[in-house]
Amino acid sequence: MSTPAPSPKLRGFYGGTFDPIHQGHLQSALFVQQYCQLDSLDLLPCHLPPHRDSPSSSLHRAEMVRLAIAPYPQLQLNLLELSRHTPSYTVDTLEQLQQQYPGDTLCFVIGMDSLAYLTRWHRWGDILKLCHLLVLARPGYTSADGDAPALLQQFGAASFAQLKRAGSGQILLLPNPPVDASATAIRSGQAPAALQISAVQAYIRQHGLYPR
Ligand code: ATP
Repeated sequence: MSTPAPSPKLRGFYGGTFDPIHQGHLQSALFVQQYCQLDSLDLLPCHLPPHRDSPSSSLHRAEMVRLAIAPYPQLQLNLLELSRHTPSYTVDTLEQLQQQYPGDTLCFVIGMDSLAYLTRWHRWGDILKLCHLLVLARPGYTSADGDAPALLQQFGAASFAQLKRAGSGQILLLPNPPVDASATAIRSGQAPAALQISAVQAYIRQHGLYPR
């Protein structure tokens, strides 16, 4: 008798520069993993454009993610993009992940600010053939911004149950509690401590990152 095929897993990937990771990323990652009952949720730091990036910046950004998620075994650090030598398009990463996890359902997590500009992403239509998009509420941005209304009209899922029935191509807005944090505010020294992650703050101090 042959063993039954394993049931497909729901795999989440949360891409970002994480320069540095903050409470907006961390709290929303914990929310989305729980809300969607994802079998895994990987934080996927990307390369920065050459004028901002350096091998040490990549290393520091990955290390800060590692420190931030250390208390949460439901979150993992994924070095797929940083292990390449150049910036990669999200669509290429998703193609690679699809090969790595054949048959599983891929969910890419983005903030509402990113949805507004999705049609500027390289081969954005193919992105929606490869995965679902889980969209986080973010203070200052709404589903009326930019491309969001047209995208939601065409690809919007009314519920998580509806999204789960399709293998890809659905966009779901998440009811996560908004956290008004940004990496820009941290780099410029304007973010309150409550929006930062204490282990990451200590790392930033120790390594003298983001001098002003
Ligand atoms: P920067 O200020 O440098 O632009 P950022 O704070 O937006 O950085 P990124 O690493 O660029 O952080 O964001 C990665 C992803 O996380 C993006 O899809 C972004 O929309 C989302 N995101 C960032 N901050 C928040 C937040 N506070 N709430 C919800 N989503 C967020």
